[in-house]
Amino acid sequence: MKLFIANWKMQLSLTEQIEYGQKNLKALKKITNKIILCPSFPALVPLAQLLHKTEVALAGQTCSEFEKGAYTGQVSATMLAQSGCTYVLVGHNEERSTGVSSEQVAQKALRVLEAGMIPIICIGESKEAHQKNSAKQVLHAQLLPIKEAIGAAPAYLAYEPIWAIGSGTTPRKEELETIFNFLKTEMPGCAYLYGGSVNKETITELNSISLLSGFLVGGASLDFKTFKKLIT
Ligand code: PGA
Repeated sequence: MKLFIANWKMQLSLTEQIEYGQKNLKALKKITNKIILCPSFPALVPLAQLLHKTEVALAGQTCSEFEKGAYTGQVSATMLAQSGCTYVLVGHNEERSTGVSSEQVAQKALRVLEAGMIPIICIGESKEAHQKNSAKQVLHAQLLPIKEAIGAAPAYLAYEPIWAIGSGTTPRKEELETIFNFLKTEMPGCAYLYGGSVNKETITELNSISLLSGFLVGGASLDFKTFKKLIT
């Protein structure tokens, strides 16, 4: 059984997100792989109500690094748990690129654990770092504060090379095997995921990587017919 995480980002309207759950409820119930949907915040509660008798889980796309307080615009991990989430994505590159540091990502992961959920921690190197062969150094630096904050607590570690996200290109299988073996030495207790242009063209090869527990899917999760081809 593999894990498939549908990261909808901010691509669908609120109505489209709720309809995704309503229209595909029967089909989603039948999927034997583990599915996690990551809708926008306002869609969490209605989707949680819709999916509560299914095995489909919900994840927030991020959370605050703080527990509570005067942080206008932020949403706490506890509130996400109260909204029906059992997982939260932290440190997606689209979040990091707004200035969120690895230290902040580590605090977010800690808040997620404290709220009784599992963090899905995203890491990945730029195209430039990839070309310079310095992916491992970048990943090591991103992981340092995370290891310090959460130790060996249960977590998913999602490797998403920035240059692969939304590009149609994925790293070669051998490159990925090297990276995941490296991540296993860095954070041995985690389950490992890959994200970045997972689609029907790339999935077969990606699926043959034995260290992988699953995938983070952006573009190819937005339309259920397309997503279904990956997850069944
Ligand atoms: P993509 O996005 O599948 O569209 O490349 C993945 C992600 O950003 O999580």
